[in-house]
Amino acid sequence: MNTLGVTGGIGSGKSAVCRILGDLGARVVYADEVAKRLMHEDADLRADIIEAFGAESYDEAGALNRAHLAARVFGDEVQLARLNALVHPRVRAEMLRLIDEARADAAPLLVYEAALLFDVGADQLLDAVAVVDAPVETRIARVMARDGAPREAVLARMQHQFSSDEFRARADYVIENDGNMDALEAQVEALYAALVVDESGR
Ligand code: ADP
Repeated sequence: MNTLGVTGGIGSGKSAVCRILGDLGARVVYADEVAKRLMHEDADLRADIIEAFGAESYDEAGALNRAHLAARVFGDEVQLARLNALVHPRVRAEMLRLIDEARADAAPLLVYEAALLFDVGADQLLDAVAVVDAPVETRIARVMARDGAPREAVLARMQHQFSSDEFRARADYVIENDGNMDALEAQVEALYAALVVDESGR
């Protein structure tokens, strides 16, 4: 079973690509969802977060107080690095566990979607990485429509990410998402076919 990372800038179409890969039969893991789940379920991580950021990090019902944490780390690189140092190693361990699980289940392909894939070195743990890319103006328009966000907010989020060139330089595969959904599907189908090993040996 091959493992494929999917990454790219905001609005490039990572989620769309992963949805198609999932429909084709891949097991898809979303890094954000893993992080959210672990911050909720992992007792050691909860304890570390409370120690670092205070008891208000969780509400009375035990749910993560995202607003509190966001306020603590927003615009503060030291605090953000502190949170990441708690969360990322656990996400990485869980990713490796999920890869083993997919292999044991004989999944045809394991896909790992992460905006920060290269930042956290997850590419080192995967067989290949596909970067999804589209022109900046297309990405802005897509995110404005998706999130109802103003242009400035989208630009602000883009500023913290790698540029297209930086993403592309690190890619094993580039998915050009500058056309319609049919064009995207055709590329993703070809990628899936290239990565799914024929287990029958034919
Ligand atoms: P990302 O996960 O990289 O932020 P998404 O996959 O959420 O990006 O795509 C951003 C928005 O653009 C979504 O609403 C998605 O449905 C839409 N979108 C993605 N690719 C296309 C495409 N080729 N044509 C039309 N809309 C698209």
